[in-house]
Amino acid sequence: MRLIMLGPPGAGKGTQSKLLSKKFNIPQISTGDILRAAREAESPLGLKVKEILSRGDLVSDDIVNQLVREKITSPECENGFILDGYPRTLGQANTLDYFLKEMLKYDLRVVSISVPRSILINRLANRRKCNNCNTEFNLTQSIKCPNCSSEDLFQRKDDNAETIAHRLALYEEETKPLIEYYEMKKNLFHFNGNEKVDILLNKIIEKITL
Ligand code: ADP
Repeated sequence: MRLIMLGPPGAGKGTQSKLLSKKFNIPQISTGDILRAAREAESPLGLKVKEILSRGDLVSDDIVNQLVREKITSPECENGFILDGYPRTLGQANTLDYFLKEMLKYDLRVVSISVPRSILINRLANRRKCNNCNTEFNLTQSIKCPNCSSEDLFQRKDDNAETIAHRLALYEEETKPLIEYYEMKKNLFHFNGNEKVDILLNKIIEKITL
């Protein structure tokens, strides 16, 4: 199964991708996670994208296309993958189509998750990660890590009010047109992301396995 998770920042793409990855035993490819890891490792790529990430701007298509190509052609992706945060521009979507054609893989499905803007802002501003066990959660659910009760929490550098507004605007401009792009290809499924995690997960599984 080859899946794309499409939706604005804070829609829950990462949460659902991790669960779907376990369920179908295929890897989650999060371009955001890969870029943040490169930044933490201070690799040449990390140094190049550091400022772009903190501004909430998009990394160039060339860089992310290359990253994704390496991943999806690797042996661990032989049986499929879940793309989380890619493609994010029409240019990236066209390039992905080209990669898949080259690989003779045509079974792409797109999961589109929508959430009202006010809820997205609330979710992003309250998003925290536990420094102890890496669990991601929301301060509105709990003020301690729900997994290990640690109070040693971490907030993503781009989850501040100004950068959140910029990321949402970029989503509207650059990424939202992809909904129509995949609708025309008739491989897109719509979901309401303002639902409980397990309920949404079950709805996604039901639709994509039909
Ligand atoms: P979110 O969807 O919450 O904004 P991600 O973790 O998917 O977060 O991405 C974080 C940042 O990484 C983005 O703001 C952008 O700078 C960069 N990034 C991730 N994926 C892409 C992509 N496909 N194209 C360009 N930039 C990307």
